[in-house]
Amino acid sequence: MIGKASLRLGTIGSIEINVNVTWLAVFALLVYWLRVGYVAENAGDITSAAAWLISGAGALILFASVLAHELSHSFVAIRNGLPIKKITLFIFGGVAHMESEPRTPGVEFKMAIAGPIMSICIAAVAGLVRFGLLGGNPTGVAALITEYAFYANAVLACFNLVPGFPLDGGRVLRALLWKVTRDYVKSTVVASAVGRAFGLLLVFSGVTAAIAYETPAFLWPVLVGVFIERLAHLSAVRVRRMHARTPLERGIRFAPITATPRPVFYRDREPPPTTGK
Ligand SMILES: [Zn+2]
Repeated sequence: MIGKASLRLGTIGSIEINVNVTWLAVFALLVYWLRVGYVAENAGDITSAAAWLISGAGALILFASVLAHELSHSFVAIRNGLPIKKITLFIFGGVAHMESEPRTPGVEFKMAIAGPIMSICIAAVAGLVRFGLLGGNPTGVAALITEYAFYANAVLACFNLVPGFPLDGGRVLRALLWKVTRDYVKSTVVASAVGRAFGLLLVFSGVTAAIAYETPAFLWPVLVGVFIERLAHLSAVRVRRMHARTPLERGIRFAPITATPRPVFYRDREPPPTTGK
């Protein structure tokens, strides 16, 4: 799903960077939303052109932040012998396309945590500049941009650390459970169940807020929630299928699901072992 309808921007190291067409729509929406919201409220007395420029810079910062987050996952994966050929940015964030799954809980943990650590580092630097160096001039262009970079990366880190698969925190949870129980399938099922619960919570909160505040803006968390819930469900089903005991069991129980598109955060082709070190 994500691989199709994508534009290639270039390569970083050996990794191809792609932008899906769905992301372009989100980029345009974000520029508009920043212009009428964040920038209009905080920029003070500036020209309309300058406000649009700052909004564009803000959207580019989010783009760069998501890319840095995915590159961080990718570099750790490559260092641990898992090839990453490309990164695609799409409507709900970024995907590092992985050729195979980590073979041990240790590698899974390091790879999963690398993205949020990168986001926390960027947030820390932006926060230091904004609240340390520029504290006295809260409406300047530099203050607006660094404050946005701070919040965007802090939200990226916190959201991704929610311990529900397929989010990074869910991968961390799976790695920990995998390490303790030595059961890859059960660990995936538990982490995916948390992911499904979180997805449903997002849907419920979004619908409630959309009704309470009478604004369609809260439909965004609803969409993200549906995406996470479905992906968590399909991930658990796929892992169960790959590790099913008999070919008959694999074929009969899960055959219809193999036709479903699966936009996973890390795309896996080979099943990892059921036990880890
Ligand atoms: Zn991540």
